[in-house]
Amino acid sequence: MDVLVTGAAGFLGSHLTDRLLGEGHTVLGVDNLSTGDRDNLAHLAGHPRFRFEERDICTSFDPGRVGYIFNLASPASPPEYLRMGIETLRVGSVGVENTLEIAARYHAGFLHASTSECYGDPLEHPQKETYWGNVNPVGPRSVYDEAKRFAEALVMAYQRSRGVNTRMVRIFNTYGPRLHPGDGRVISNFMMQALRSQPLTIYGDGRQTRSFCYVDDLIEGIMRLSRSDEHYPVNIGNPQEFTILECAQAVMEVTGSKSELHFVDLPEDDPTRRQPDITKARALLGWEPKVPLKEGLKKSLEYFRSKTEPS
Ligand code: NAD
Ligand code: UDP
Repeated sequence: MDVLVTGAAGFLGSHLTDRLLGEGHTVLGVDNLSTGDRDNLAHLAGHPRFRFEERDICTSFDPGRVGYIFNLASPASPPEYLRMGIETLRVGSVGVENTLEIAARYHAGFLHASTSECYGDPLEHPQKETYWGNVNPVGPRSVYDEAKRFAEALVMAYQRSRGVNTRMVRIFNTYGPRLHPGDGRVISNFMMQALRSQPLTIYGDGRQTRSFCYVDDLIEGIMRLSRSDEHYPVNIGNPQEFTILECAQAVMEVTGSKSELHFVDLPEDDPTRRQPDITKARALLGWEPKVPLKEGLKKSLEYFRSKTEPS
């Protein structure tokens, strides 16, 4: 099948592209390289079934006939979407609409990458897909959260009104090789700081929680969802929940680092807890994550170590 992947040069997009090529598909990857990196696709240079186009999906385009679209384009790290607030709102609205139009034109399947951020600072714990969330519509994170919530509404509208064959995955914090070492997310920050023997920056008191999913598990969940008929959102994430202090401890163990902890201010509206209820993914897709946090960190060690060396 001819598949379009937007955000293909990003962390998740590049892994998804590898998986699709591995299954024999022909992939067109597009990306504006705003937070992505060509290096993530360097190993595919000359691949007979892969083509890359540098483009912004906020400008409408015609990739030719495609059978499936995976829409992953969007800044994802808080410091990046705070830096590119307007671009983030545009890619989550105009960009998603452009890709939905392509799906409508070619009767292509469509899978949209949504996020646990739709739940905001959740009052329900763990978070089920039926929970509507607790989002500040005007706070700093709103550029991402509301773009993603608008995108979900848009995807549902194209499914209901135009009959587009859509799916939505609500992704919870995912990590692994190719996570940009400088994009400010917690795992990349801690791994790089630990490997450089620098203090680990704990925001707030470190008692806020996240639930971390290894990238291979996430990609498997996305592939299974793409083959299902479910139009409503499905959580994909690892329900093992850690405080940020526990996460720092795990990074120190895996890296063998003796770094100190450096406590700094908690960013505004930083959610206090996050844990996916994956009952729906288990029942619908027969999916559950297999890689515990420390094992995933070990699998990521070589990649982050390579990023500490001057290139
Ligand atoms: P990433 O920043 O590594 O990848 C996103 C890619 O989208 C980048 O390569 C970027 O250059 C590209 N992009 C951004 N705006 C674009 C535009 N206008 N046109 C074309 N390309 C554009 O982030 P990621 O972690 O790989 O995230 C991929 C998707 O998954 C995003 O939609 C994100 O919101 C979602 N997601 C990720 C996580 C996670 O933990 N990694 C969690 C929830 C949701
Ligand atoms: N965090 C931290 N130190 C860092 C980076 C992040 O303590 O160097 C915290 C952040 O405040 C949040 C959690 O780790 O509570 C996850 O942050 P991330 O930016 O990875 O993703 P989020 O889930 O907030 O979108």
